[in-house]
Amino acid sequence: PSSPRPVPGACFSRVRPAPLRQPRLVALSEPALALLGLGAPPADAAAREAREAEAALFFSGNALLPGAEPAAHCYCGHQFGQFAGQLGDGAAMYLGEVCTAAGERWELQLKGAGPTPFSRQADGRKVLRSSIREFLCSEAMFHLGIPTTRAGACVTSQSVVARDVFYDGNPKYEKCTVVLRIASTFLRFGSFEIFKSADEHTGREGPSVGRNDIRAQMLDYVISSFYPEIQAAHAEDRAQRNAAFFREVTRRTARMVAEWQCVGFCHGVLNTDNMSIVGLTIDYGPFGFLDRYDPNHVCNASDNTGRYAYSKQPEVCKWNLQKLAEALEPELPREQGEAILAEEFDTEFRCHYLQKMRRKLGLVCTELPDDEALVARLLETMHLTGADFTNTFYLLSSFPVGPEPLGLPAFLAALTAQCASLEELKLAFRPQMDPRQLSMMLVLAQSNPQLFALMGTRASVTEELERVEQQSRLQQLSPAQLLSKNRAHWTDWLQEYGARLEKDREGMGDQDAWQAERTRIMHANNPKYVLRNYIAQNAIEAAENGDFSEVRRVLKLLETPYHRDGEPTEALGATGADSGGNSYSSKPPLWAAELCVT
Ligand code: AMP
Ligand code: MG
Ligand code: MG
Repeated sequence: PSSPRPVPGACFSRVRPAPLRQPRLVALSEPALALLGLGAPPADAAAREAREAEAALFFSGNALLPGAEPAAHCYCGHQFGQFAGQLGDGAAMYLGEVCTAAGERWELQLKGAGPTPFSRQADGRKVLRSSIREFLCSEAMFHLGIPTTRAGACVTSQSVVARDVFYDGNPKYEKCTVVLRIASTFLRFGSFEIFKSADEHTGREGPSVGRNDIRAQMLDYVISSFYPEIQAAHAEDRAQRNAAFFREVTRRTARMVAEWQCVGFCHGVLNTDNMSIVGLTIDYGPFGFLDRYDPNHVCNASDNTGRYAYSKQPEVCKWNLQKLAEALEPELPREQGEAILAEEFDTEFRCHYLQKMRRKLGLVCTELPDDEALVARLLETMHLTGADFTNTFYLLSSFPVGPEPLGLPAFLAALTAQCASLEELKLAFRPQMDPRQLSMMLVLAQSNPQLFALMGTRASVTEELERVEQQSRLQQLSPAQLLSKNRAHWTDWLQEYGARLEKDREGMGDQDAWQAERTRIMHANNPKYVLRNYIAQNAIEAAENGDFSEVRRVLKLLETPYHRDGEPTEALGATGADSGGNSYSSKPPLWAAELCVT
């Protein structure tokens, strides 16, 4: 590539991927590659090896796919609230588009394939750990049912770059790694911000010739390619078309962030350059899934003000849409953009969020005005008791409805204790222990936390106890007092929930049918597995030692994140146990609880 340069008025620059030494395949996502019409891997081992070698060659950028015309897309963005001018894409290269027999059209990108004219002082490379995280999470989000860019391949190499990881002054050399990304388009809000006036880019007057023309072209391209129904409906009226387009981007973005909130996903870097123009989750950097529920959780170590905290995500997305509206001027008059945003965003977000939460709670027949408060009080209870986000929702699908004397206390105990996983405890105590017996033991353990320690030899159990003790010291309560306080919080909420379920049950004649439907909906909306940081971290550490099997295993696991029929429902983690007996559905071990990724 040629030398770094600001490029007023241009959107793409031709580039060539820079070859890597000894590219080696980390993993392929077969469902993502299938989008491109690539067939399943052959059964024969030698043929499979040859296929992997070929994938490593092409998806590292060492060889160009036939017909590829690599280019880097130049875009701007608001970073942490400030307009940062031209800043991307120094790290990703567009390769071209694949048009499938089914009439679909997919854009391919290599992320980390070397410098581009927009790399500034950086090297255009990505390392193994960040690439594995992007690769795994893109696919995990897709299988959770959340709109996202996809990842088809992850290829590492023997080429290295210096990265300062621990800020101890010593650079750490890490392996250059490339991710093949796939999406209908990678254009972002920031792609339109490039048309802001040149003096805003550079702080001085610059040529502005043709800016409006290029904005119009890009807008035409986006609407006709990705919003064809809007193009068709407003072919005669450009102003109306543009307004309808912005309305639809607003709605899609609101739904996307509602999905994030419902699965406890924190993006981490919600700058306008990381907001897809078609409403996809894009750019997996320091993202994180909530473990213990904390609305103020910040997953990005460099976000000192908590601008991108979990609970701020909806309003930040709305703010970003405001910036998009400004970038679309004069194609979209300012007042109109503001009016659309005010009309659509909050309503669409709230509606989608509530609908999803009702499903997560198994409210399948009725919608009541108090449901929003019920959800808010659940989150508050989780916060007060330090409950795990994913596991709490998953556990709720086994909430005992109807008169079941043993069921409720046992359930309450499980919810209150929220040990690493019931399955893990079961293994720790007695291999064939009945779930009810186990739950009863949990009840006992809560009135006598020392019992916990005596019963459990497994680290996670001891760690859970340590946490309880830590918390009780903080709150100046004995562990037993703390647990009974938590139990009281849960009792309150479960009573409310139980009453609400009764009302829902009345909405369907057949009780068994209601129960079956409720369980089905809850299982389809409360994942058992999400890509917790510690799960990614274990896969990364193995990969850094040359073993890619854990990446591949985690990828496979995350392809079916929801409960499958035939699996035991009362316990978490039975199928996800790794060879060390750790469970993928566990809360993180203590060492990983505060894991923060940069
Ligand atoms: P991000 O904060 O990940 O959204 O990155 C913002 C922009 O920084 C990207 O669009 C790239 O242009 C640039 N960038 C990030 N990492 C690199 C890298 N390793 N080399 C060159 N540019 C980079
Ligand atoms: Mg980015
Ligand atoms: Mg990034």
